[in-house]
Amino acid sequence: MKGYYWTVHPKPNACDKCKAMAGLKYISEPERPHPNCKCEIKKHYIGVNIMGVLDGYGSRETHSFSTGQKIVVEVKNLGPFLSGAQVQVDGDVWRDTGHMYPGQSRSFEFTKFGEIPLPWVVMLMYGGADNSSVQYFIRG
Ligand SMILES: [Zn+2]
Repeated sequence: MKGYYWTVHPKPNACDKCKAMAGLKYISEPERPHPNCKCEIKKHYIGVNIMGVLDGYGSRETHSFSTGQKIVVEVKNLGPFLSGAQVQVDGDVWRDTGHMYPGQSRSFEFTKFGEIPLPWVVMLMYGGADNSSVQYFIRG
């Protein structure tokens, strides 16, 4: 659900090998190029935690963000009628909760590979009876 990346911050008097590591993102903690390296190595957490509501017929929302290689999208029917949502990721992968009873929820997991942080675009489209609502969570 979560990911990390590392960056290297050489001191002003660092050697060329160390300076060459600046400005890059590492998906695992980089090895220091020589003993007694005093450069600062920072660990960065990347994550997303979005919550929203789709209210009735025709309602849709799009979220763009950067995070790790895996996200989970959960859709919960707030009622009072049968409803659900379609979830589209990066413009091509579609998932559909189908019609759920009030209080029911479904989760979908999406993964992709590449250098983190990775850009994601998640679109949610309401499906079901009008005058009903679904809540959604995007976590990763
Ligand atoms: Zn160094």
